[in-house]
Amino acid sequence: MKVTSHELLPWTEPAFDTFFSSQKRRAHAYMLAGHSGLGKTIFAQQLAKSLLCQEEEVHACGQCQSCRLFESGSHPDLHVLQCEKRMVEIEDLFAIYAPRYLEDENKRKKRKKPSAVIAIDQVRRVIPDINTRPHLSACRLILINTAEDMNINAANSLLKSLEEPPPDSYFILISHDPGRLLPTLRSRCNRIDFRLPDKQQAILWLSIQLPNHADISQLLRRASGIPLRALELATDRRHSEEEQITQYMLKLAHKQTDPASAAAVMIKNSELIIILETIQLWLSRLIRLKFTSQNTILSENEANKILIDLGNRINFRELYAFLDKVSASKQLASGPLDPLLALEDDLISWQTLCSVNNRNKPI
Ligand SMILES: [Zn+2]
Repeated sequence: MKVTSHELLPWTEPAFDTFFSSQKRRAHAYMLAGHSGLGKTIFAQQLAKSLLCQEEEVHACGQCQSCRLFESGSHPDLHVLQCEKRMVEIEDLFAIYAPRYLEDENKRKKRKKPSAVIAIDQVRRVIPDINTRPHLSACRLILINTAEDMNINAANSLLKSLEEPPPDSYFILISHDPGRLLPTLRSRCNRIDFRLPDKQQAILWLSIQLPNHADISQLLRRASGIPLRALELATDRRHSEEEQITQYMLKLAHKQTDPASAAAVMIKNSELIIILETIQLWLSRLIRLKFTSQNTILSENEANKILIDLGNRINFRELYAFLDKVSASKQLASGPLDPLLALEDDLISWQTLCSVNNRNKPI
C-alpha cells in the first residue's frame, strides 16, 4: 500500500493519527484552528482524501478510484466552499473544487474585485447536494475554507445543517482566526488546534525544503516561528534577489555601472553566499538559454531575448570559466574574507569578460 502520509507536515502527524484512532467516536464536524502557515490546508486535504478513500485505511491509498478522482479535482463526494478571492489567489487543490459553489455569475460580474466573502447563496446551494447519498465513497465531506470568510447569514444557514447533520457527512471548517466565528458555530465543532512546531523540528523541515539557505534559524525567527511563512519569505526574497542580480549583471555587461558600485548595492541588501548562489543560478539560466536559443517561444519573451543576445556574445568556455570562479568564491564565502572586495573581484571579472567579447560589437 502506498502511504501518502509523508505529504503531511511532520508536526501535524500526531493530530492526524489521533483523528483516526478515535474512529468509533468520530464527530460529524471538525474545526482546524490556528495561524495560517502551520499546515491546516495540507492536513485538511489529507484528511479528506483518507476519509473518502475506498480502502478505508488511515492514510489514503492513492490508488483507488476515490483517491484518483480526489487528486484530479473531481471527487463527487467532496464539496468545497471558498470565497472567490481565495480561489483566485491560492492555486491549490481546493481551488479546483471551489467553482461549483461560487456565487451566481451575474452577481460576480457586477463586482470590480473577487468577493472575499462566502455568501448565503453558496451555503444554500451545497445543502441539497449533501442530503443525497454519497456517490462513491462511504461518506461525503463539506469543507469550508476558511470559516471566517462566511458572512453572518451564511454562518447561520450552515448552523442549521450542523445541528441536524445528514448521515455519513463530515463538516471540516478551516479557521485561521476562530475568535471571529459565531460561538454557536464553534461549539458545534470538535476543535483540532494547530500550534507552532518545536523549533528544532521546524528548522529540520525548512533545511530540507531550502537546502542552500545560509541561515534557517534567522529565517524562522523572521517568520515568528511559522514554517510555511518562512518558506514563503525565502521564496519571495529569492525572487527579488534574482531580479536585482539580473539587473546588475546586465548593467555591468552594458557598462552602465561599475563593479564597485554594483557590489556595494548587492552587499547592502544580501549576504555574500546568497548573492553568489543567485549569480550561479542566473549564469546557468544564461547558459541554458544560449543552448536553446533556437527555440522561438523562449526568444519571444523580452527578458529572455536580452539574455540570449548577451549569451550569444560570450563563448561557452568563458561562461563556464566564470561560473567556476563564482563557485570557488562561494566555497570561500564563509571564511575570513571581505565580502565586498570578494564580490567586487568577481564582478570585475564579469565586466571584463563582457567587454572583451564586445570589443567589436558595441551594445
Ligand atoms: Zn484510496
